[in-house]
Amino acid sequence: MSQALAEIQGRIAAAEARAGRPAGDVTLVAVSKTQPWEHIAPVLDAGQKVFGENRVQEAMERWSQRREGLELRLIGPLQTNKAREAVAFFDVIETLDREKLARVLADEIQRAGKVPRLYVQVNIGEEPQKAGIAPDKADAFIAACRETYGLPVEGLMCIPPVDADPAPHFAKLRAIAQRTGVEKLSMGMSDDFEIAIAEGATSVRVGSALFGRRDYA
Ligand SMILES: *Cc1c(COP(=O)(O)O)cnc(C)c1O
Repeated sequence: MSQALAEIQGRIAAAEARAGRPAGDVTLVAVSKTQPWEHIAPVLDAGQKVFGENRVQEAMERWSQRREGLELRLIGPLQTNKAREAVAFFDVIETLDREKLARVLADEIQRAGKVPRLYVQVNIGEEPQKAGIAPDKADAFIAACRETYGLPVEGLMCIPPVDADPAPHFAKLRAIAQRTGVEKLSMGMSDDFEIAIAEGATSVRVGSALFGRRDYA
């Protein structure tokens, strides 16, 4: 039903095997942002349940009528004024990256009585244009999320610099996770998810390789 989905699943399975990891260890997050419905429908029909979206509003428009049985992850930057909607709508928020957002999320979680699974985004290549906590501030930020704000940190997320070898960046994220006792790693996209799996990714965020190139026009 979806050739592309079968192919990506096969490549994930092969990468798991090469890394000596159990089959099914890695979750595929299908990144559906900006995609027309005719690209998404075959992947959904083929049984894919986990989808990633960049924007709260866009995600709600795309998914609220067919939310049942799916796991939706926010993988784009979260403004504090959208925190209430994000907490209500998403199962996982992967872009917790600053103290103010931690405080607002903690308040909204309290109010809603519902805790999304949370990942801290690390700006692993220390790029000025990218979101994420700086690597040298990550340990203290994770501790503050847990201790000051009472937020459970399930995982870390990163987007390495475009033109660099991603492997050392993935390894660096894994090292932060290991020393802070964080279990999950969201890393790897269409061009580098197999490398990310070799470096310990527990979920990979694949968009264009699954749905075709995004059209931002
Ligand atoms: C768009 C996006 C992806 C998917 O990128 P592809 O290269 O199309 O696989 C993954 N992660 C984040 C955070 C994104 O914004």
